[in-house]
Amino acid sequence: MQTSYDHDNIFAKILREEIPCIKIFEDEHTLAFMDVMPQTSGHSLVIPKEPVSTLYELSDEAALACIKTVKRVGKAVQQAMNINGSTVFQHNGKDAGQTVPHFHIHILPGSLFGIKGHAAEFADPDELKITAEKIIACL
Ligand code: AMP
Repeated sequence: MQTSYDHDNIFAKILREEIPCIKIFEDEHTLAFMDVMPQTSGHSLVIPKEPVSTLYELSDEAALACIKTVKRVGKAVQQAMNINGSTVFQHNGKDAGQTVPHFHIHILPGSLFGIKGHAAEFADPDELKITAEKIIACL
């Protein structure tokens, strides 16, 4: 099912710099930043600058750009969090549990087992900034 894009969603506002994010990486097509309600320390997000809600509307060019950024940031997340594995996932639509309707890819150090619930609890912003610095140092 095709979904219409909500230009007022929170990630669209981050891209327009109307609200802040704790940025890890940015290039022409993508932005990576810390998840404010991390399911585990180091939980990061990669978004395209293209305004689409789900994977199924994403252009092939933007998909490639996202994967390149996920590879780069994901390796840095693993190194920074000193763990030799990560989980990469994304949701498509409300029925799949997507809460922010701008396409995004989650990078979680480690596995999904035994971690906090999805979008459940805000982290201390100062701790997020310290974690972001560690990841940036590994890029
Ligand atoms: P999803 O449920 O797949 O749409 O995931 C949305 C993610 O965005 C959740 O993990 C939230 O914790 C996270 N999130 C929501 N608002 C913000 C924000 N302002 N900055 C960073 N992450 C956010």
